[in-house]
Amino acid sequence: MPTIYVTRKIPDLGLAMLREKGLTLDVSTKDGVLTKEEMLGALSAKPYDGVLCLLTDMINGETFDAVPSAKIFANYAVGFNNIDVAEAKKRGITITNTPGALTNTVAEHAMALILSATARIAEGDRLMRSGTWGGWGPMQLLGSDLNGKTLGVLGAGRIGSRLAYHCQKGFDMNVIYYDVKRNEVFEKETGAQFFASVEEVLRQADVVSIHVPLLDSTKHLINAERLKMMKPTAYLINTSRGPVVDEAALVEVLKSHTIAGAGLDVYENEPKTAPGLTECENAVLTPHIASASVPTRDGMAKLAAENLIAFFDGKTPPNIVQ
Ligand code: NAD
Repeated sequence: MPTIYVTRKIPDLGLAMLREKGLTLDVSTKDGVLTKEEMLGALSAKPYDGVLCLLTDMINGETFDAVPSAKIFANYAVGFNNIDVAEAKKRGITITNTPGALTNTVAEHAMALILSATARIAEGDRLMRSGTWGGWGPMQLLGSDLNGKTLGVLGAGRIGSRLAYHCQKGFDMNVIYYDVKRNEVFEKETGAQFFASVEEVLRQADVVSIHVPLLDSTKHLINAERLKMMKPTAYLINTSRGPVVDEAALVEVLKSHTIAGAGLDVYENEPKTAPGLTECENAVLTPHIASASVPTRDGMAKLAAENLIAFFDGKTPPNIVQ
């Protein structure tokens, strides 16, 4: 029966499904991301038939060389920018991901970041904990409302369109969006208006939320020049991937109040943050936890397992990315 290397412990649900199907699992016992050397060492230890990997694992030609017997890498994430998919394709290696399982949870997290930033929740929490709050004040921690404001979605795929649904139906916001392709179902559902450029969305939106995949074409999609196109009262929300935003440029506009604030779940060089970011009171920061609910992480484990099981049953896995 096939033997799979699992690069880090994931919820038991997925591992149990694989074991029930008779697959043998070697699960890394390290409570952390394997270093490159650890990964190459672990993979070359046995002729594994497949690998279950995470978004924090860099998978490329060197990795494939370490374990030439492995014909499938099942990523425990919807994003797959951590994998050299072109190289995998050249070698006939199947790559799978976990789309859909986390859509609601990530959209809800983006909503939480929007509310935290605009209602200044994190700042209020810090004030309470500091022991220096002097009581209610008419000018204290004034934020902004969402009702009637405009949400600008960059990338109206699964997560972006779900967030827009919450904002439109729950908060009566107008929705505008930019995507490389139009999404007419989304337009009908939320009344969203399509713009043919990122710039136009940045100029008009009160809240800009990013939901594009990380590709060569989306690296620094939001750069210094584009940040300056945003309204001074606008907020930038990023739950996609850190490198989509030039984080150092974002720190500058937050410090100078060129924009009102930001809500971030992802960072350019995780787990580090750009110098000065954590001092920006107008930034709400979460540690890449947008998909971190118990049911969603179980759902991702189930999907990753289903992809592996289908592959070793000789079927086409449901979520192939190439
Ligand atoms: P999706 O594929 O359904 O949607 C992505 C959308 O972006 C698509 O509509 C696509 O056409 C559009 N797009 C691609 N290139 C673009 C470009 N250059 N400009 C504008 N639009 C472009 O993906 P999804 O399931 O909604 O996930 C989106 C991303 O969110 C993932 O790729 C992943 O990186 C990220 N993500 C982050 C977390 C987290 O924990 N923070 C969790 C899940 C997903």
